[in-house]
Amino acid sequence: MYKVSQFNVPFKRGGIYFLYNSHTGAFVKLSEEYRESIRKINQGRFNEVPDKHLDDLKAAGFVVEKSKDEIGLYKYLINLYRFGNSSFGLTIATTLQCNFRCPYCYEKHEDEYLYTCNMKS
Ligand code: SF4
Repeated sequence: MYKVSQFNVPFKRGGIYFLYNSHTGAFVKLSEEYRESIRKINQGRFNEVPDKHLDDLKAAGFVVEKSKDEIGLYKYLINLYRFGNSSFGLTIATTLQCNFRCPYCYEKHEDEYLYTCNMKS
């Protein structure tokens, strides 16, 4: 049995439907056929969904096994990255300006920059 991922972010832009999964990073333009398959999965009508659709949606993480604890896995990975010592990640944001305006964005898009200081003697 399957369920749609809690991390799915569906949205419509310019009459086109898109689906983004904030856990896997998968991002697709969604056809009406796939939208219908997702609706059927939501309703538990798995046997009405074409195998190819189910395989594609599972591969991208849009659909997961019903027993999968997505939040638990997310917390595990966060703790692994936060407290593990096998890797080091560093992000330097030189500016907070962004022109994309993704529909799921929570940034305020303020005009701020990473300033450099020129020290003169
Ligand atoms: S800052 Fe917001 S609008 Fe810009 S790319 Fe990231 S999520 Fe999208």
